[in-house]
Amino acid sequence: MVLNELGQRISNALAMVNNAETIDEKVLDACLKEITTALLQADVNVKLVMNLRTNVKVRANNADKGAGLNKRKIIEKSVVDELSSMLSSGLDEKQLVDLKKGKPNVVMFVGLQATGKTTTCTKYGAFYKKKGFKPALVCADTFRAGAFDQLKQNATKMQIPFYGSYTETDPAVIAAKGVDEFKKANHDLIIVDTSGRHKQEESLFEEMRQVAAQTKPDLIIFVMDGSIGQAAHDQAKAFKDTVEVGAVIMTKMDGHAKGGGALSAVAATQSPIIFIGTGEHMDEFERFEAKAFVGRLLG
Ligand code: GDP
Repeated sequence: MVLNELGQRISNALAMVNNAETIDEKVLDACLKEITTALLQADVNVKLVMNLRTNVKVRANNADKGAGLNKRKIIEKSVVDELSSMLSSGLDEKQLVDLKKGKPNVVMFVGLQATGKTTTCTKYGAFYKKKGFKPALVCADTFRAGAFDQLKQNATKMQIPFYGSYTETDPAVIAAKGVDEFKKANHDLIIVDTSGRHKQEESLFEEMRQVAAQTKPDLIIFVMDGSIGQAAHDQAKAFKDTVEVGAVIMTKMDGHAKGGGALSAVAATQSPIIFIGTGEHMDEFERFEAKAFVGRLLG
């Protein structure tokens, strides 16, 4: 199911309430059944979906105790609120996006291979360069042949300094050296790209721990392919359990991206989504807005 289909189904379910003459238990249950089915089929975590159902029911029943006139609106608003709050983890997303100037912010990127991590590192650097930061990129991916060349190519295109090695095999050593060098050169945003493997192998996680220990990042960003569904929850949780993930970036939100992964990743990492990738080009990168995302979802 593509994102728009999920939104369409939720909108249709809300229309059932809007079109009903009286909103009794039966109408509300039918509406919530359709919404929960749509969310589950979009791979949203079961617990989250059940929470939404309970909370909307409570708010709708409370409306009964009042004048009852606004019940339609209350149901609609509570569905929108619940979806938005599923997407914001309660952490201050703005704070994570507004990096502090005048100090060396070290930001480490983690995620599985082919999620778009390397591309996103450069997009992220370019975003802050435009805001007046002095970014630099460190390639601590010694696993994938060609990773350094790819980072170099992207970085050169965006005129961002980079650091890497063709001979050093220990990613933690490269990361430490790179961060150190760029700190000395007064860079205020040092981005560390790490290896991504196909699966959640233990060696990948051990390597991540070591890179984090060496570079002491101010922020660790988990990069996730926006088109994965239910797998998002376990994948995100495995990363969060290993390193202190503080934010999520979802890539490939162009194309046939599902919305379910977004909801699950936020729940698993208890971290907000801060940006989305919307294409292969360096400028196809946007701030994530939960309300706008839900608004788009519901058309
Ligand atoms: P990594 O292995 O995680 O570092 O992934 P790469 O950065 O090499 O990206 C893998 C592929 O995904 C490349 O072909 C990228 O151009 C592509 N890619 C990255 N981000 C996006 C995105 O937001 N949208 C689309 N459509 N493709 C993307």
